Amino acid sequence: VSQLKGKRVAVMGLGKSGIATAKALLASGAGVMAWDDNEGARRIAAEEAIPVADLLAIDIAKADLVVWSPGIPHTFPQPHPLAEKARAAGVPVVCDVELLGWAKTANRILAVTGTNGKSTTTTLLAHVLAANGISVAAGGNLGTAALDLPDLEGDGRYVLELSSYQLELVDRLQVSAGVLLNVTPDHLGRHGGMEGYIAAKRRLFDLLVPGGAAVIGIDDGPGRAMSAQLMAMGLRVVPISAQKVLDNGISAPDGMLLDHGRAVCDLRDIPTLPGSHNWQNACAVYALARADGLLPKDIASALVTYPGLAHRQERVAQIEGVTWVNDSKATNADAVEKALVCYEDIHWIAGGQAKEGGIKSLEKYFDRIKHAYLIGEAAADFAKVLDGKVPYSLCGELIIAVKSAHAHAEPGDTVLLSPACASWDQFKSFEHRGEVFRDLVEGLK
Ligand code: ADP
Repeated sequence: VSQLKGKRVAVMGLGKSGIATAKALLASGAGVMAWDDNEGARRIAAEEAIPVADLLAIDIAKADLVVWSPGIPHTFPQPHPLAEKARAAGVPVVCDVELLGWAKTANRILAVTGTNGKSTTTTLLAHVLAANGISVAAGGNLGTAALDLPDLEGDGRYVLELSSYQLELVDRLQVSAGVLLNVTPDHLGRHGGMEGYIAAKRRLFDLLVPGGAAVIGIDDGPGRAMSAQLMAMGLRVVPISAQKVLDNGISAPDGMLLDHGRAVCDLRDIPTLPGSHNWQNACAVYALARADGLLPKDIASALVTYPGLAHRQERVAQIEGVTWVNDSKATNADAVEKALVCYEDIHWIAGGQAKEGGIKSLEKYFDRIKHAYLIGEAAADFAKVLDGKVPYSLCGELIIAVKSAHAHAEPGDTVLLSPACASWDQFKSFEHRGEVFRDLVEGLK
């Protein structure tokens, strides 16, 4: 970030993105002071030769810039004293993504936000661009931190997944096309309510370059309203829908991808994009890739080769006619529902550390489940809900569940690990749980 050479920059928060930020700033010749309320994080930073100092104890007005980790609340539910002091002193408070924008003025930036589907859309877009010979780096909210992304040659594209927290902390980032996939209530505590959350998402479109495409999912009320509003303002809006045909946008109501009503390709043929929620993601990717200059046929042929994201309805094996699916990322009932609607004759592996809400809301899909295999702390509670409706086994451990499902499942059935629970009781993370599952299934072959 060459503009910050010789400037004094405070870095608040020393997680993965904060460390990357501090290092990038030091490499650019900026003076860095960094802090994290967590002592362990401070120690790691100090080991990386990052200067650490309590930012509340110094005169923040003397800083030229504060780079804030989006995970740390700064406005709601309570204003953070450091953010308040900085703002009162007129010191800009931004996040790492903003700095990426300052550093990469030569490259196009494509941005993805929304309550759900961000990671899928981000990786699918990166895949489609790369498959068409474009050099691309993807990251941001998930995966690689913004300032850890590699340098790209000339016309390489950055595909950024942006959370509402990050969007609150950007200002001059130039986005050449962006999508807001959907807006449903989430993180409201941090935004002071639904209005604040919608306002944060809407900021994406303040960042568009002149003529840049604003791709907006209009299957929910806030998206519809925003689309109408931005159209009225004269922005180049591309509405998308997975529910109805759009003559003025991209849609896929029954799985056929339609560009202004004209058929492009059948998404139902792509096993790595199951379900209408993924059709919405595919519409978004198509719209962004079109805005970026790709041809419909080239986008369509790249969609087909999408390898899928690990742990999200990931097909890990086909054994003796039985399909094995790793959906370890599904840690709550809402996410499990997205998987249950995609299959029939399901052998469902569920359980782990219980989350609020349980699995009662899934009852309407119970007829799709042939048998449930329950693991972890939540097993007994889940068994109570299933009792008399779905046959189940109390398996305890994942290895028992996998073996038992293997013994029961018949050709044409699907074994689905979609736990509706956190993983912490038996695994390090949902990724770890998914990897163990994948290895166990490999072992069955
Ligand atoms: P995010 O990065 O926004 O958390 P992911 O792409 O990782 O989203 O998907 C997480 C889960 O959200 C998926 O397993 C799926 O159940 C659900 N999902 C994915 N795309 C959508 C969408 N467009 N609308 C609603 N839910 C979705």
